[in-house]
Amino acid sequence: MTTSQTRRSDRLMLTIPLKVQGVDADGQEFEIPARTVILNRHGAHVKIPRKLRAGQTVRLVNLVTSSKAEFRIVRPVSTPSENGGDYGVECTEPDGDIWQIEFAPLENGEAADARALLECQICRKIYLAHLTLGELETLRTYGVVGKSCAACRTETPLRYADFGTVKLDTVDEGWKTLFSGFSRQRRHRRVCLQLPLGIRDGKGGVEVSKTENVSKGGFCFTSEKEYHAGQGVTVVFRGGTFSRNVEVPAQIVWQQRFEKNNRKIYGIQCERLIAPRETARF
Ligand SMILES: [Zn+2]
Repeated sequence: MTTSQTRRSDRLMLTIPLKVQGVDADGQEFEIPARTVILNRHGAHVKIPRKLRAGQTVRLVNLVTSSKAEFRIVRPVSTPSENGGDYGVECTEPDGDIWQIEFAPLENGEAADARALLECQICRKIYLAHLTLGELETLRTYGVVGKSCAACRTETPLRYADFGTVKLDTVDEGWKTLFSGFSRQRRHRRVCLQLPLGIRDGKGGVEVSKTENVSKGGFCFTSEKEYHAGQGVTVVFRGGTFSRNVEVPAQIVWQQRFEKNNRKIYGIQCERLIAPRETARF
């Protein structure tokens, strides 16, 4: 695997509340709330409400885990305004582990049909874990799956990690208020589940993609294709060994475009709820 392939496969669309400390383009020291949009092992795409320049370093504090590390602003993802923008950042500390997420490698002989962010119910360690359709089925049915936890050194019960309702217990009130004003509230619980699917656009076009996160009302996926808001599509989920593919009519509801590449994030709403039978139990 090349570095870019590794980076792409480690990509995780996840909102983590952050505190950013640094010095802005006018030489002013600042400490402001921010959040991740996408993250990978050593970097992230972060929304920061401050104009920053490429090459400068900032300190990011993960408000969920209180971990902190130095990051370099690699480039703006879109043209930043006076109110800041989206930036690509890269950790400059070799052992920096600000996300506290274990990107589980695919073991020899292990098959993976999907990946999900799961939390060990014993030690609370969070994994981006590979799942077979069988394991996904178990998660759907029981809400829990037995997998080997590296920290517990045994098979333990794992559940979907709950980032939808971030526990900001360790964060003081001022930051909680700041962050709640900055991050939009979600109607449904969202889980990080990367599940392969097909999207049929009604004009004969078919695309293979994967979900980035899933909620009762719909999911997000990324694509280089052009879809417009309100466009009707058909989502095809792969069936298990003994079940047929499942087709769900859906509608594109929002899009976020990145200027620096062709990929777009789309939000999609399914015309009937995809839980509990097709995708997951929330
Ligand atoms: Zn554990």
